[in-house]
Amino acid sequence: MSDIEAGDPRADARADARAHPLSQQILRTDVSGMPLEWVDYREAARLYHTGQVAYTCGTLLYRLFGGTSALTGWRTVVDVNSIIATIGHTGNPGNLRGAAYTPPLNNQTLFRRDAYLCLYCGLRFAYGQLSRDHVTPFSRGGRDVWSNVVTACRRCNNAKASRTPEQAGMQLLAVPFTPTYAEYIYLKGRRVLADQMEYLAAHFPRSSPLHRRIQLWRN
Ligand SMILES: [Zn+2]
Repeated sequence: MSDIEAGDPRADARADARAHPLSQQILRTDVSGMPLEWVDYREAARLYHTGQVAYTCGTLLYRLFGGTSALTGWRTVVDVNSIIATIGHTGNPGNLRGAAYTPPLNNQTLFRRDAYLCLYCGLRFAYGQLSRDHVTPFSRGGRDVWSNVVTACRRCNNAKASRTPEQAGMQLLAVPFTPTYAEYIYLKGRRVLADQMEYLAAHFPRSSPLHRRIQLWRN
């Protein structure tokens, strides 16, 4: 019997290590180390308690205290690391190569892909001032896919209207690209720690524009 049945650590979990709030997400990988997803502390506690954590990387995030086991009288303690490798997961989309995996497209990850820069005027904007521009507009056969969308400020998007950049006399500052699975996990992260960022970056393609953009964000 596992201690999770006697005293659910989710019930009164609290952080011991003060460095990180409980809202800090944990990077979960499969047993080979391929990035899988972000999990919260509840899910991490469950993975530890059900014996699914094969090994850990990164740094200690926090210590969770659970209830007292009726069986042993011991209090459950779980040290949660920033990166955990878990067993028993198959079909990780990150193992697909090339164009086999296409992440869903949404503005949150799109704006992050482009580092919150308008790819026409090059200025940085807050989330609410940005928009999704279709490089080749719908009216000219363009599609709503990663390779045809860029982040644009509202002013540039209005100026471009339903034209291609060439027709509007505007130049794209970077070529839009479809993120790989590891890149997409990075883009989805709410607050990515330095060790998690390095771990994910090691799984990006060497040619990924994100390598340079991450350096820009850090400075
Ligand atoms: Zn602009």
